[in-house]
Amino acid sequence: MNYVKVYVEHSALSLNQLFTYSCDEPVQPGCRVVVPFGPRELTAIVAALAKEPETSRKILPVSQVLDKAPLLNDELFELSGWLSDRCCASVISVLKTMLPPAMRPKTGHSKVVMEQWLEQGIPADGAKLTGKQESFLSGLQLPVPAAQARRISASMTRSLLEKGFLKSVDRPKDRDLITLPAKDVPPELRPGQMQALEQIRQSKASVFLLHGVTGSGKTEVFLRLAQEALEQGKQVLFLVPEIGLTPMMTQRVMARFQDQIAVYHSYLSPQEKYAQYQHVKEGKARIVVGTRSACFMPFDNLGLILMDEEHDASYMQDSMPRYHTRDVVLHRAAHHGCKVVMASATPSLESYARTLKHVYELVQLPERVNFQMPEIRLLDMSKETVRDGFSQTLLDAIQSRLERKEQVILLLNRRGYLPVVRCADCHDVRICPDCGIALSYHKKENRLVCHSCDRSFRYDPVCPACGSTHTAPVGMGTEKLEDTLQTLFPDARILRMDADSTRKKGAHKALLDRFSHGADILVGTQMVAKGLDFPNVTLVGILQADNALIRSDYRAAESAYEMLEQASGRSGRGEKPGEVMIQTFDPSHYVLQSVRSHGYQSFFRREMQYRHLGDYPPYIYMAMLVFSHSKPETVMERARQAVSHCRDQRILGPVTISMRQQKHRVRLVIKDRDDDRLLHTVWDIVHALGHGPVKLEVTMHPLRLEE
Ligand code: ADP
Ligand code: ZN
Ligand code: ZN
Repeated sequence: MNYVKVYVEHSALSLNQLFTYSCDEPVQPGCRVVVPFGPRELTAIVAALAKEPETSRKILPVSQVLDKAPLLNDELFELSGWLSDRCCASVISVLKTMLPPAMRPKTGHSKVVMEQWLEQGIPADGAKLTGKQESFLSGLQLPVPAAQARRISASMTRSLLEKGFLKSVDRPKDRDLITLPAKDVPPELRPGQMQALEQIRQSKASVFLLHGVTGSGKTEVFLRLAQEALEQGKQVLFLVPEIGLTPMMTQRVMARFQDQIAVYHSYLSPQEKYAQYQHVKEGKARIVVGTRSACFMPFDNLGLILMDEEHDASYMQDSMPRYHTRDVVLHRAAHHGCKVVMASATPSLESYARTLKHVYELVQLPERVNFQMPEIRLLDMSKETVRDGFSQTLLDAIQSRLERKEQVILLLNRRGYLPVVRCADCHDVRICPDCGIALSYHKKENRLVCHSCDRSFRYDPVCPACGSTHTAPVGMGTEKLEDTLQTLFPDARILRMDADSTRKKGAHKALLDRFSHGADILVGTQMVAKGLDFPNVTLVGILQADNALIRSDYRAAESAYEMLEQASGRSGRGEKPGEVMIQTFDPSHYVLQSVRSHGYQSFFRREMQYRHLGDYPPYIYMAMLVFSHSKPETVMERARQAVSHCRDQRILGPVTISMRQQKHRVRLVIKDRDDDRLLHTVWDIVHALGHGPVKLEVTMHPLRLEE
């Protein structure tokens, strides 16, 4: 008799607890099995095999073995354990994240729609082709979908299958999501790009940070490196931040490498994801362009990992397991012995600090391909003439671009029409009943939307507190900005890009296509700051820049710098010089001053001083624990118990933060100079308090503290 140790998923159990069952069928670690568990049957994952039961408890047999082969190869299975440990998340939750939806632990392969294909077969002894059959066969481009062959001749297809000249195989149906763009001609490299390439090629280091201003040609350096790895017969992973950049970058990579590419991002259907995953597994695609979850693709011969816009927060998943893509790719690169190149115009403080300590090697591209940085103007709103939220200077600048047929991008990092709906008579503010924060009014849907939990309510103009129908307009969101702008410039063709206008599949790409085919103004949230490469944009305007600066989070300044510098980087990328106007009440703020002079280093030094004084990353490591429960006393009590597990570490909280889904939440932050010790402490807490009715969510190295 053989025994298996399995992981099961159950909220009452402590994390990654193993259970032993007997199993007389052949099975391997990484396969799914069904096991009896109390009164129920649960899907479980085999963690290890054993010859002895190693327990005196009664052992039940496995009811069913679901997989003949492990879901993941050895490298990825090891990765799942490592990641579970690093993120304090269950192995099962990690596996769910790593696998495409159709292959996840609780589902089956059944969701995948298969399609019959025909391949070259081995003919039966003595089988002969008729002349007609021979010409039919030579006319088929194998492998071919069976349906296609039957359309030409069903009877011929049938008899060739019978004789064995054709073989039938099932493949996951793969809707052709990719229409290949024309092959591009690589530009001749600039001396700076050549130097950067040479440095990366020659160096013995394995991790690089390519720091280049916006428009310095970092992507072109990436494409050359990828080319070389492919020529050596290796695979390439090309990571881009969530959605914003995906369509443009995919086009660029496809234009260079054509059909060697697989694409993997969150807008694909489960079927498409499954098909792309299989393409990589079977070696049909050798370069993957994708967002965060593409870091789990089943490579077996990885030669290079590229991570564009390294600083982007979407590289960290904000639900369990809360992993950072950078950690995963560094781990995988070590396994495959390949180089990692991360690029950004605004590197995260952590990564830049690591280059100073020579953990990563710094590669620099200090000049734009067109040799001109945009001119940045800080518009002091206390001195400007202001109209409908715009300074006259910005309005004049927009007018001049419309006359010159140049394009404008306007950023306002607030979606919806009104950020707050306040009664003009009793001053009552409409708030989300679950979260206790102000609801935003969205005009198109005529709904009030909570930007924290996404719940929405039909808008009733009658004030629930006093019955008045007068609302005081407070602030402005992108929807209102679009309306206002259309009134001010009635002939301008205006597009809006934010989470609302890009919700539908393909909407994002469609918007960008429309903008490149001649719209005048693109307004949007921080989405418009990211990666867009439109040479005819010569003006970028940023409204309410101060909103980004006054947030209380320890990373507020870094995020603000990143957004403003990236947004500025969209202006003047072509031949015409670019201009940027930032509306602010605080033009002397160091973040704005650094953006004005394109001074990453000056920003870095200043911000590092602040982090040092405040005892924040990258000087220390942090873990964030959020407890939630319907009773406020219960959840606070639980968080206090957690404190008793801490060693001599600095602790912030426990503090009560906003509710989510009617649950009271309490946040605890632990700081430590020693990352391993911090992880140990958190695991102690998870083992002691991670199960039961009070929910505990852990984030190691959070990018943002929940409020
Ligand atoms: P980054 O990734 O640093 O923002 P890109 O690689 O997107 O920069 O380059 C900016 C623009 O310059 C793009 O339109 C790109 O096609 C163009 N470009 C890049 N390298 C060259 C080159 N060597 N010669 C001509 N144009 C280039
Ligand atoms: Zn009222
Ligand atoms: Zn809410």
